[in-house]
Amino acid sequence: MIKNNTHPEAPVEIAGAGPAGLAAAITLAHAGRKVIVHETHKEVGHRFGGDFQGLENWTSKENVLSVFKTLGLTTDFNANPCRNGTVFNASGNRYEIKSAEPLFYLIERGPAPDTLDSALLRQAQSLGVEVRFNSSLRHMAGDGILAAGPRAADAIAVGYHFESDMADGYWAICDNELAPQGYAYLLVMNGRGTVKSCMFSGFKQEKLYVQRTVEAFQ
Ligand SMILES: Cc1cc2nc3c(=O)[nH]c(=O)nc-3n(C[C@H](O)[C@H](O)[C@H](O)COP(=O)(O)OP(=O)(O)OC[C@H]3O[C@@H](n4cnc5c(N)ncnc54)[C@H](O)[C@@H]3O)c2cc1C
Repeated sequence: MIKNNTHPEAPVEIAGAGPAGLAAAITLAHAGRKVIVHETHKEVGHRFGGDFQGLENWTSKENVLSVFKTLGLTTDFNANPCRNGTVFNASGNRYEIKSAEPLFYLIERGPAPDTLDSALLRQAQSLGVEVRFNSSLRHMAGDGILAAGPRAADAIAVGYHFESDMADGYWAICDNELAPQGYAYLLVMNGRGTVKSCMFSGFKQEKLYVQRTVEAFQ
């Protein structure tokens, strides 16, 4: 949402230092606007601290990292290209996924140095964007963008992070007994792994689904 009713010299205020808010801040800074980003938490990527996410690369012919560059956004974050992986259905049938181009890039979220969030923060600050942490924006006096993320979760991903000497890779299981209406996954990147149940319902039984997910991958 953008509100626009003030002088072009006035700062644009942005609520939220997630990827949307920081990308908007960078774009505005490139266009010569003064920008202030407010972030409720003390750091970027707070709700995703240490999570791996997939930067999807399969829906367009143009590589997603090239799209970032075209948009003037940094790619100075860890992005592990994932071409091959393994998916199982609820009956245990195994499907090998192979692609010449990366299907997605595995990235890290949160405040650590090599995450998407930290890279966007560094770029924004280097362009003169002021980022105010521990600051919740409740009212916009002038131009502003609401980039506050979702109000409630449609889905949750619950599980564990761990260190591992496994080779990098990704594995997924589509089984309502492990992740209702979602998918269970195991991701390994650079000696760190994550095993999670990403469920779209059944949140009250999350412990059970996580336990089943861990057992299934073991
Ligand atoms: C479990 C899970 C797994 C996911 N996996 C993937 C994936 O693999 N690939 C993918 O592309 N996407 C994934 N997503 C979606 C992805 O995380 C979101 O699309 C993305 O984070 C949205 O970015 P955003 O900037 O809009 O919001 P957020 O990243 O939520 O950032 C919003 C920020 O605004 C701050 N804020 C809120 N209100 C205020 C306020 N009033 N004032 C100041 N600050 C405020 C919040 O603290 C937060 O830091 C996943 C999401 C979940 C929940």
